[in-house]
Amino acid sequence: MTAFVNEPYADFAKPEVWALAEAALSGVRAQFGRDYELWIAGAAHRTGDLLTSLNPSHPAEVVGRHHKANVELANRAIEDAHAYAPTWGQTSPAERVEMALRAAALIRERKFEFDAWLVTEAGKTWPEAEADVSEAIDFCEYYARQMMRYAEPPPLVQLPGERDDLVYLPLGAGVMIPPWNFPLAILVGMTMAALVAGNTVVIKPSSETPTIAAKFAEVLHAAGFPPRSFALCIGSGAVVGDVLVEHPKTRFVSFTGSREVGLRINELAARHRPGQIWIKRVVAEMGGKDAIIVDREADLDSAVAGVAQSAFGFQGQKCSACSRAIVDDPIYDEFLDKLQSRVAGLTVGPSEDLRNFMGPVISEGARRNILNYIEIGRGEGRVVAGGGAAPGDGYFLQPTVIAGVDSKARIFQEEIFGPVLAVTRARDFSHALELANDTEYGLTGAVYSRNPETIHRARKEFFVGNLYLNRKCTGAMVGAHPFGGFHMSGTDSKAGGPDYLLQFLQAKAIAEKL
Ligand code: NAD
Repeated sequence: MTAFVNEPYADFAKPEVWALAEAALSGVRAQFGRDYELWIAGAAHRTGDLLTSLNPSHPAEVVGRHHKANVELANRAIEDAHAYAPTWGQTSPAERVEMALRAAALIRERKFEFDAWLVTEAGKTWPEAEADVSEAIDFCEYYARQMMRYAEPPPLVQLPGERDDLVYLPLGAGVMIPPWNFPLAILVGMTMAALVAGNTVVIKPSSETPTIAAKFAEVLHAAGFPPRSFALCIGSGAVVGDVLVEHPKTRFVSFTGSREVGLRINELAARHRPGQIWIKRVVAEMGGKDAIIVDREADLDSAVAGVAQSAFGFQGQKCSACSRAIVDDPIYDEFLDKLQSRVAGLTVGPSEDLRNFMGPVISEGARRNILNYIEIGRGEGRVVAGGGAAPGDGYFLQPTVIAGVDSKARIFQEEIFGPVLAVTRARDFSHALELANDTEYGLTGAVYSRNPETIHRARKEFFVGNLYLNRKCTGAMVGAHPFGGFHMSGTDSKAGGPDYLLQFLQAKAIAEKL
């Protein structure tokens, strides 16, 4: 196998690339409103109870209609995944790796089509969609290579008169619960890691982005994954999700989403049920309240650009998004002025239009929640940019900056998950670090400074799972930035890193007397 390299991004400014993207968008639009079946226990199912997914840029457009699983089908999904797990687990790693690489090739072939699904179902702009789809390809390629490594672990100490081995075995049947905000990358990442390691999976996608999940199921079929190695179990988190998490045959749960749901899943999974013969393993990657510190010795222009990109890219709906800018006293006013003018130039509107830097937020409910936080923010600081809805029939919001926010304020502490940035003044770098670490989360963070001593302190004292220095705090790349956070940001599983597959494997030590 060749060495892993990240998938290059398409440049939509090139007319020939844009022509392909537009053609893909027309193809996707032609499929709008289609019905999609469930895939459970190696067969398609229809329940007649439909979940409708909408285009957040144009909510009158129905992207897809999906048959929803009920309790009985959810039980069947996990029971069949459990029954098939030993068969799938006995396939050779090389066979599974080949399927993962085929999946990567298929997504690559359909890249603009996948981009277009992300633009229309998740409200991603083209460049954001392209990054998401490229990351999905990277996960397939990277975990395939990692599996080959675990298939041939380094030799153990050999005791005299013995042969001592370590082998990595799959766990069994797992439940995949991804969020809507990286509807392809996170879905593909967790699913491919589990499958390539030899586990069977039941995928329960977010109700906001079920069509993207259905398209990925097409890829799994075409890549040769056997019909019973995976199930697509679309349905409400509260109904289907609880059944899957609680089932005694569920061996592990891979969750990415909010703190509230993650903690609940962790608690439900911990409870032993009759017939259950293991402790369920839970990977829960959760929210963030990510800060960028701008030190007095920072390159101000690059700090302003990094903060604006991290806070407002994909409308602030990334777990890694910057929602707090902590700015050193001597440069605070200048930073705020420059940030204000930069934010004033950000364009908002339908995500399919290349001219827009920001598209819609995911739903009307999300928009209401974010507007509510903006109102709270008005009482906790001074709105210096944005502060409300943006025009259009989609769920558009203005990029909003609230300055002079105290560290105990709600908008400084709670994850808003929208285009809202709190700016806070720090007395000096020690104070800035204290403020940045004053949160129950610990996902990403960044520091802008040209002082090597300051950078050295940040490396040691900024307590986050992903620290970035003199660059934005979003855009983790598979292989280079293994991803996962501390504290309430989750279990720090480091997706896209060399240790990630261990979440889906159990090691068996064998000593043979010679
Ligand atoms: P969410 O918690 O609302 O939903 C996540 C998933 O859980 C969805 O598939 C949802 O249907 C499902 N779910 C909901 N209730 C459930 C239940 N009772 N049982 C089982 N499943 C249930 O989160 P979201 O709105 O989809 O995503 C946004 C959140 O995800 C933010 O908090 C963001 O920070 C976080 N996130 C974290 C990371 C990370 O790597 N740490 C990455 C992306 C997003």
